[in-house]
Amino acid sequence: MLGSGTSMGVPTIACHCRVCSSKDPHDHRLRPSVLLVHQGESAVIDTTPDFRYQVLRAGLERLDAILFTHGHADHILGFDDIRPFNLHQKASLPVYASLETIGILKRTFAYVFDSVPPISTIPRVTLHPIDGPFEVIGTRITPIPAQHGDMGVLGFRFGNAAYLTDFSVLPESSKPLLADLDDLVLDALRDTPHPMHQTVEQALAVIRELQPRRAWFTHIAHELPHSETNARLIAAGYPNVALAYDGLHFEVHV
Ligand SMILES: [Zn+2]
Ligand SMILES: [Zn+2]
Ligand SMILES: [Zn+2]
Repeated sequence: MLGSGTSMGVPTIACHCRVCSSKDPHDHRLRPSVLLVHQGESAVIDTTPDFRYQVLRAGLERLDAILFTHGHADHILGFDDIRPFNLHQKASLPVYASLETIGILKRTFAYVFDSVPPISTIPRVTLHPIDGPFEVIGTRITPIPAQHGDMGVLGFRFGNAAYLTDFSVLPESSKPLLADLDDLVLDALRDTPHPMHQTVEQALAVIRELQPRRAWFTHIAHELPHSETNARLIAAGYPNVALAYDGLHFEVHV
């Protein structure tokens, strides 16, 4: 997990709440992103505004693919910082995203996709619109469509794990794609309702329905203290559910 925080990150600028001022490193959450590593190759899900720092912090020196969940700012704004990988690997990077997200990337980063010859370096990518399962880093990836307010979002399943950030509604048609999971990472913003995100209660309802062996919350806001919320989940009868945190890593059977 390169980042487990909500769009503004935790600590949040100018906030002095007990989570933002916590000394527990688990309460420090960069914007939401995941690094997948398989057979010496790497892929990231989303390029957050914290992408550069996340990559440095993880010691990542090679990138083979980028997957985008959707086009919100907290998931794409680090895109320009893929340039060192272009230079280092002397290659463009494959990008997998929905057509809607590709449209947002082209608008937001017009200088990357227009035909004006650049004077300085710009990201070099090859765009792959997602229209079904695909393969990156030697791993089959299954896109999981979900609803994020009035916007579409893609989760991704790889082997016995799935990553499902930024959603408010999981369509019935996507549920069979999430059967028999060892690990499910899913959106759980806070306790109070939000039109575009799951609450803790709503995320627990999804977990009860899908029955993954373990579940991890992500896109976490500053309303949820790490250790206290984990203790609360155990007390509520969910010993297999916990808040994800930056730096969390686990092996996935693919
Ligand atoms: Zn987000
Ligand atoms: Zn705060
Ligand atoms: Zn979003």
